Amino acid sequence: MPLEIVQVPVLSDNYAWLLHDDVSGTTVVVDPGEATPLLDAAAARGWTVDAVWNTHWHPDHVGGNEAFAAPITAPAEEAAKIGRVDHPIAEGDTVRIGDRAAQVMRVPGHTQGHVAFHFADDGVIFTGDTLFAMGCGRLFEGTPADMFANMQRYAELPDATVVYCGHEYTQSNARFAASVEPDNADIAARVREVDALRAAGEPTVPTTIGRERATNPFMRSTSAEQLGERRVAKDNF
Ligand code: ZN
Ligand code: FE
Repeated sequence: MPLEIVQVPVLSDNYAWLLHDDVSGTTVVVDPGEATPLLDAAAARGWTVDAVWNTHWHPDHVGGNEAFAAPITAPAEEAAKIGRVDHPIAEGDTVRIGDRAAQVMRVPGHTQGHVAFHFADDGVIFTGDTLFAMGCGRLFEGTPADMFANMQRYAELPDATVVYCGHEYTQSNARFAASVEPDNADIAARVREVDALRAAGEPTVPTTIGRERATNPFMRSTSAEQLGERRVAKDNF
């Protein structure tokens, strides 16, 4: 069985994730902004949450942490802001669900200690509030150069890598992308697709690295300066 991944909408527009490895019977929750929908989703499958992983300290990603009787894995740099952190992590660390390994990538900019979890063998990555579908996170604690470097790293992953991000922001991101590249047919097609999904009440997440390389104006930026200009423009869009 592949790694089982359950998408759980929480708060107003966040996505949290249940990850389940059937061989070991292990379940991890990623970024529980609130706990109840995740506890319900786990219970409905007969799963018990064994660990909590956080990508960064913002309350919409850690607010439900303490409702789980489970150890918390989170960025060492942000532990003081998160509260209880049982397993502080940093760039280059490996975290596991049963025998499945994820590499920890430090991806600063939205917050300084922000991490992504990359399961290379499973072809999936959890990017929190750094890489979004057709967008990127706001630069609250970092520079355009930080986020540009993150995008370069993400762009080097295989195109088929499935990207699980922290928010349903795609419709707004798509509008902005179309304004940046009005002649890009891939972006225009994706705008229509995203509009149809949202009109049907469907999520637009996950995405893939290949789709983001084709349609994400932040991943498509050719310099930190250009990414910075686009980020400011999106903030005011
Ligand atoms: Zn955030
Ligand atoms: Fe967030």
